[in-house]
Amino acid sequence: MLTAHLHSGYVLARALPPDIPRLMPVALVGAVLPDIDMVWFHLVDNGAFHHHRYWVHVPVFWLAVAAVALPLAAWLGYLRTAAVFFAAILVHLVLDSIGGGILWGAPISDHLFEMVTVPAAHGHWILSFMLHWTFLLELLIWAAAAFLWFRRGVEV
Ligand SMILES: [Zn+2]
Repeated sequence: MLTAHLHSGYVLARALPPDIPRLMPVALVGAVLPDIDMVWFHLVDNGAFHHHRYWVHVPVFWLAVAAVALPLAAWLGYLRTAAVFFAAILVHLVLDSIGGGILWGAPISDHLFEMVTVPAAHGHWILSFMLHWTFLLELLIWAAAAFLWFRRGVEV
């Protein structure tokens, strides 16, 4: 997924009960946090590895973090907030699985599981992704977020 992670966090937050403490900022941060590895990918590794192989894109890493953080959050009275954070990360990883591949089997398997293979049909990989039908899903998420944004405050 190229462009719709932040928007997916917005849609997620809007789909949840609004009384969850810090709902929107937690959903937005969780929705984009795995892509923080792009800093290391570009500045340190110079693009040598698929950035979905970094630990912030590995589901078992977040499972381990959640196993520690969720009980702690429950003890502190923020279980629902922490659950939103991990749900947003899960949404990120699922959306990245559509055309980018995620290490769902790690540490047992190092295979990047993807739902659809986006062929390198054009000169630049970004163009290949943007001209592939899966990009319509991104536009759909954008449209859902825009719809919810413009409807905010309208609901009673
Ligand atoms: Zn990602």
